[in-house]
Amino acid sequence: MLLESRAVEPFFKNGFVLGCETSQEGVIIDPGDEVNDLLAIVERTQLAIKYILLTHAHVDHVTGVAKCKEMLDAPICLHRDDLFLYNGAVQQGALFGLRVDPLPPIDHYYDEVGPFRFGRYEAVVHHTPGHCPGGVCLQVGEAGTSGQMLFVGDTLFAGSIGRTDLPGGDHALLLRTIREVLLPFGDEAEVYPGHGPKTTIGHERQTNPFLVSRT
Ligand SMILES: [Zn+2]
Ligand SMILES: [Zn+2]
Repeated sequence: MLLESRAVEPFFKNGFVLGCETSQEGVIIDPGDEVNDLLAIVERTQLAIKYILLTHAHVDHVTGVAKCKEMLDAPICLHRDDLFLYNGAVQQGALFGLRVDPLPPIDHYYDEVGPFRFGRYEAVVHHTPGHCPGGVCLQVGEAGTSGQMLFVGDTLFAGSIGRTDLPGGDHALLLRTIREVLLPFGDEAEVYPGHGPKTTIGHERQTNPFLVSRT
């Protein structure tokens, strides 16, 4: 699989381009302020982007959606429970002192459409609330197999977990989501967080201070 990520200031939020080498089909995950870099990757790799997939709708994860939609004309996909954040992106930006242009409408909600196929691969959506109500994990791998690449948004980071002090955040729910939805993917599963470096489920299970049980 073709996989590239980019992150730029001020949020250093990871945006991803995934692609199938044989079919030249791909997806973009969480286009934010680094959107021009992501579009340059699409141009260079000649991928036909099938979907714009959002792990959640905090402002750092959506500031590039309008540009992506304009340039690629791919459907935008989000969990319905984050629609209030998506529709409030302009106000979210204002809280950080940022000017955010209004966003184009959502095309697909995850409870209606999916998995999202691109060439030999697919992204399967798992609801992972806690950091925000409509957070999801995108499980990616060859279609029909149990994908081992997890795009988790801000639910789990290398050595940390997502903040829960923003509207709709719930710390206890976040911990339960990580234990019940993410850890069962198994120690080998690769975790691609919304910020910072990639990790694995096993590494986090053994070393993440929020997950290591003190017995
Ligand atoms: Zn977030
Ligand atoms: Zn974020």
